[in-house]
Amino acid sequence: MEALEKFRQETRAWLGENCPPSMRTPMTSEDETVWGGRNAKYANPEAKLWLDRMAERGWTAPTWPKAYGGGGLSKEENQVLQQEMRRIKARPPLSSFGIWMLGPALLEFANEEQKKEHLPRIVRGEIRWCQGYSEPGAGSDLAGLQTKCEDKGDHYLVNGQKIWTSYADKADWIFCLVRTDPTKKHDGISFLLFDMATPGVEARPISMISGASPFCETFFTDVKVPKGNLVGELNKGWTIAKRLLQHEREMISGMGLGGAGSGAGLGGLEQAAKDYYGEQNGRVASPSLRDHITRQKMDGKAFALTMQRSAEEAKAGQGPGAASSIFKYYGTELNKRRFELLLEIMGTKGLGWEGEGFTGDEITVTRSWLRSKGNSIEGGTSEVQLNVVSKRVLSLPD
Ligand SMILES: Cc1cc2nc3c(=O)[nH]c(=O)nc-3n(C[C@H](O)[C@H](O)[C@H](O)COP(=O)(O)OP(=O)(O)OC[C@H]3O[C@@H](n4cnc5c(N)ncnc54)[C@H](O)[C@@H]3O)c2cc1C
Repeated sequence: MEALEKFRQETRAWLGENCPPSMRTPMTSEDETVWGGRNAKYANPEAKLWLDRMAERGWTAPTWPKAYGGGGLSKEENQVLQQEMRRIKARPPLSSFGIWMLGPALLEFANEEQKKEHLPRIVRGEIRWCQGYSEPGAGSDLAGLQTKCEDKGDHYLVNGQKIWTSYADKADWIFCLVRTDPTKKHDGISFLLFDMATPGVEARPISMISGASPFCETFFTDVKVPKGNLVGELNKGWTIAKRLLQHEREMISGMGLGGAGSGAGLGGLEQAAKDYYGEQNGRVASPSLRDHITRQKMDGKAFALTMQRSAEEAKAGQGPGAASSIFKYYGTELNKRRFELLLEIMGTKGLGWEGEGFTGDEITVTRSWLRSKGNSIEGGTSEVQLNVVSKRVLSLPD
């Protein structure tokens, strides 16, 4: 306990000295998110400074082993770090599919050479990754994927198409599910890593309802991949794929706790309600709106505490299990509800797409409301999460 308190004091002092002032302000748009990568651009130089300082300590991936560039922190120390960062409202130094999804899977399934090659570069934000899972005929039924991967002796040859590949046009590398045995379904899938600059890889952006274009159709035509890029055994990629999805779902559930664009710029739900709806005796003027806000806050608090309890109960070193589907389902539905409520509060001010009649914060909320609709689809839909919960958590029959 004393050691943990000492760690808290040291962390507080270090953050105080090293977290630049502008990195302690809420992010008001997705554009401010730092993704790193070979072609990263930093509108604010302090964002790069913050990333480099945190990466040097391994604190972009605090619990990963130091041998691979991580912070080597225990679960308890990491909790302290997160608390101290929240205390000063520090922004995440790096958002990364490498940290949220691929890294934990590599730590569990990759060989030593692969860990040494990829993990430190993820920690430093040098390589940006994308996820090549979904295909036009394989979404919820992911194991139906058809992207063909043939053994050509000294290399693999990949042909096929992925879809909804988030940021494929900006990513440097892809972790990709490929079919290496067409005669078996789950046991014919392998987990492959390759550089997006390899000849034969083409990413075409798709526009979304929110106006953003975060994902792509990704085509592979005779893409040559070194054999050393296969993670785990040939035809055993489905186990890795499922594990990675559990990490992804755990990360997405965190959206239920709020984040960029979730109304921070409007001062939160209650302040927004007072500003847009009116105030009476220091309270939101409408009793029914007060009721909705209180319910939302209570559900949010209960969700945060349940996530915390679940994390504390998990044995050290144990990754997330099927229960991540419970959190993914609830967190994303909660997030959608929060945006519905914010839009209700904002009234006609929530209808702005662009133009002078709306503030930047209002437009951000409206666009984030539209984006939130995707939360309960990406990483597996809500219906699929309910299927997983009934089968793997409640052991109900098919
Ligand atoms: C914002 C966003 C980002 C994404 N990023 C990526 C990415 O980076 N990489 C990637 O590979 N994919 C990505 N995806 C794709 C995502 O994983 C798929 O959209 C998702 O798995 C659903 O697949 P689908 O779109 O093919 O829908 P379908 O599988 O066709 O489902 C259609 C509908 O049928 C329902 N349904 C299907 N099967 C069942 C069942 N057995 N029981 C009950 N209901 C069922 C679904 O719930 C859904 O409502 C992203 C999606 C979104 C929205």
